Amino acid sequence: MPVLKIVTGADSPILRKKTKKVAKVTKEILKLLKDMQETTVAADGLGLAAPQVNRTERVCIVRMGSKLTPLINPDITYFSPEKESAEEGCLSLPNVWIQVPRSISIVVKYWDTKGKEQERMLKDIDARVVQHEVDHLEGKLILDYDHHPKPM
Ligand SMILES: [Zn+2]
Repeated sequence: MPVLKIVTGADSPILRKKTKKVAKVTKEILKLLKDMQETTVAADGLGLAAPQVNRTERVCIVRMGSKLTPLINPDITYFSPEKESAEEGCLSLPNVWIQVPRSISIVVKYWDTKGKEQERMLKDIDARVVQHEVDHLEGKLILDYDHHPKPM
C-alpha cells in the first residue's frame, strides 16, 4: 500500500475543485481509501480528503474517536448553531495555522466501505475534523476563514 503524495500550496488548483459523488464502491475506491488511510497515518494527520492526494472523488478519511474512518459521499445534514473557534492546521498548508469557527456538534451521513449508508452525530474535535474534511470536498480551505471575525 503506497503512501500517496500530499498536494500542498494554496494555489494548487485541485484543492479548489469540488469533488464528485461516488456512484458505486468499486475496488478502485477501496484501494484509494486504503492508500489515503496509510497516508494519513504516515503524515500523523487527523484526516485527509481526496483532493489532497490529487483525486476528485467525494471521499475522505477522518479520525473519529481513536479510529481512522473512511467516509464515502459524506454530507453534513445538521450543524449546531453553537460554534467554537479553535486553531486548525492542514496537511496541504504547512506552517499555516488559522482560527476557524466550527459547529460544536454535527450530523454526518456517509457510505461505509460496504456502500451502506451511515449516520453519526459527532461532537467537539470529531465534529471539527469532519467539517474540515468536508470543506476540502467542496474546494474550501482554512484560509477562507481568515477574514472572519472571531465569534463572541
Ligand atoms: Zn486540510
